Amino acid sequence: MSELPEHPDSLLHPRWIIPVLPEGQILENHSVVIHQGRIVALLPTHQARTLSASREVELPEHAMIPGLVNAHGHAAMSLLRGYADDYPLMPWLQEHIWPAEQAHVSAEFVRDGSLLAMAEMLRAGTTTFSDMYFFPEETARVAQDTGLRCQLAFPVFDFPTAWGSGPEEYLRKGLALRDDYKHHERISVVFGPHAPYTVGEETLSRIAVLAAELDLPVHIHLHETRGEVLQAVERCGERPLDTLNRLGLLGPRTQCVHMTDLGDQDIALLAAAGAQVIHCPQSNMKLASGVCPVGQLQAAGVNVALGTDGAASNNDLSLFGEMHSAALLAKLQREDPAALPAAKVLEMATLGGARALGLDERVGSIEPGKAADLVAVDLSGPETQPVHHPLSQLVYACNGSQVSHCWVDGELLLEERRLLTLDWDALQQRCRDWQQRIAATGDRT
Ligand SMILES: [Zn+2]
Repeated sequence: MSELPEHPDSLLHPRWIIPVLPEGQILENHSVVIHQGRIVALLPTHQARTLSASREVELPEHAMIPGLVNAHGHAAMSLLRGYADDYPLMPWLQEHIWPAEQAHVSAEFVRDGSLLAMAEMLRAGTTTFSDMYFFPEETARVAQDTGLRCQLAFPVFDFPTAWGSGPEEYLRKGLALRDDYKHHERISVVFGPHAPYTVGEETLSRIAVLAAELDLPVHIHLHETRGEVLQAVERCGERPLDTLNRLGLLGPRTQCVHMTDLGDQDIALLAAAGAQVIHCPQSNMKLASGVCPVGQLQAAGVNVALGTDGAASNNDLSLFGEMHSAALLAKLQREDPAALPAAKVLEMATLGGARALGLDERVGSIEPGKAADLVAVDLSGPETQPVHHPLSQLVYACNGSQVSHCWVDGELLLEERRLLTLDWDALQQRCRDWQQRIAATGDRT
């Protein structure tokens, strides 16, 4: 404790602290000491109160957890929330989402949609998110303004979109963006080839070479449905995961999103490669895509993180909802109520997500030395009383609306549910305008 500053920047006094490491630990009547953006100590509250901090926050009915990590999403698609529901993946994409995107996606759409997503994520305790969408430079700009931590996976397709004419341009723009943010504290830029069915082998091979050269992660939709896997086998005699492996694209920095329809050989391959899996249970259930076998992956030593996917296929961006769904789905799938217990699922939404994004040295748990990315959850309301077990309450009873405060690098971004870095009134008006614009040119009759 020799490094403990006499006058730390902030002292937070929650009722409970759930540091995530060690798994399942709950500290009662402890405080978090923050200085220069970092957690410097966890102390019994009576001891912490002897320090004189610039700011103290009393959180008498609150549980404090590490900021949640949403490891997969498409932030700007929040403007398409509720636009096309109750369709299977391919008709949903081809007949509804892609045409709407063709008509509306622009820098302005991405700016407003990303802001909307960030507002929602902060109010549900997400302090780090991974995003894959067009015009990532706009998402980066508003992320910088709002202060969230993020990984931007710039999209690559083999066909033209509003953001580029083909692989050449996507890679050129994406790598330029990566250079712009190379030294940024909170924003990183990585490769985001959309999926093996939208990006051919030639482009994937190029990305494999570039990612190895630049030591950059690759974020890709993979095995989202059984249909995708079967079609690939028909087309090229190989499962998409095997294709990635053959092209040199499967390793510890590969973030495989969805991963349903996995056999033992797939799980063994993911484990041997040390690849990351990102499970999006609500999106998978809503589109009836399939089930990611989380328990089997974890038993094989594969890290599994959680993601919401875009709001058009979820339809919210709450990691609390995702934790709840992941736990319930795993129990149902394994016919075992002990599968994926609360402590494990909270770990997936925090440290597991940080690990998947290569950020686990900095965030994902409440430990001295890590960035002060923290969330306070108020358990005093009727939905969460009485508190027999705060961890169970978080996973099985909270929906995100109990989040009261969020900090990133010790900076307060949400206070008593008020967004401090974002003008919600102005944004709300722009959301209404977008609804009218989208409805005016919609595919629906
Ligand atoms: Zn997705």
